[in-house]
Order: sequence, then structure tokens, then C-alpha cells
Amino acid sequence: MKEEQNREIETAAIFAQVEQLLLNLPAEEEVIEYNRKMEEENRKQLIGQPTIDLLPEECPGTIILDSFELLQAILVQILKFSIKEAEDIIRHEQAHFETAKKFGLSPIICLNLWKTPDNQMMIAPNVAFKIPDEMDPQKVREIVKAITEAPDEMSDFDKESLKILEENK
Ligand SMILES: [Zn+2]
Repeated sequence: MKEEQNREIETAAIFAQVEQLLLNLPAEEEVIEYNRKMEEENRKQLIGQPTIDLLPEECPGTIILDSFELLQAILVQILKFSIKEAEDIIRHEQAHFETAKKFGLSPIICLNLWKTPDNQMMIAPNVAFKIPDEMDPQKVREIVKAITEAPDEMSDFDKESLKILEENK
């Protein structure tokens, strides 16, 4: 019973965090800037250079979630996705998540929200993971490829990630 109550309190806290973020969405350029830095670190890792740890929560407009149930609840109850749409998104992200776990990584479920220059809200659920720097670049490449290709259908973002792998051989 106590656990159930705690769970409810946690869910309410995350819902409040999402509502708060919706009132003050970051601009697209801030998110692009973070992704640019992230991409730079990924490229370094692919050629065996040491990297800086960029935490997913440092990306503007990011909320970290501890379960896919919570992501589903936010998508349907706050962001007004249909249950079918939410399930499709979750199936996609779960494939990334489970594959990352298979490689012994600790993936994190994230929800990114921001606004475009013409004031449209953008919603991007994703799974973040960190591969240890000491890993052989060839192994890094294999792992990133497997995680990226895991869902039945790749998103544009996934295709972009594969392109970075190809460009940094
Ligand atoms: Zn994906």
C-alpha cells in the first residue's frame, strides 16, 4: 500500500514537472546546440578519443522517466496522443532500451519537449545511453548500430545516427 502511494506521489510530481515545462518550452536552437555537442562527443568516441560526459538531463526541455508506463501516461493524459500512437512510440523506444540493456548498458528513458521558431511544440521521446570510454571503438560502433537498428522502423533521428557511424570509420 505504501509503495503504491509513493508511486502515485512520484507520478504526480513528474506530471507537474511536465506541466511546468509546457508553460516554458525551450527554444529549438538550445536543443540543437546540445545535440551538436553530443554528436561531437559521439564522433570522438568512434575514433577512440576521450569524451566528456554529457548528461541527458542537461539537454534543455528533458524529463527523465523511470518507466515506460509513466511515458505512456504522459503521452496519453497530458500530451493527448491516442493509446495506439503511444503504444507504437513505446514499442519503438523499448526496442532501443532492451537492446542497450543486452549490452550491459544502463539506458535512460527521456522525454524531450521544445518549441520551433513558429511556436509549434515538438515531442521527442528517446532512450539515452552511455558507452564507457575505455571500450574499443569497433565494439562501440557495433553496439550503437545494434541499438539504433533495434526497432522495426527507424526514425529520422535513428537514420541520422547511423549516418554518423558511417562517416566516422
Ligand atoms: Zn529510434
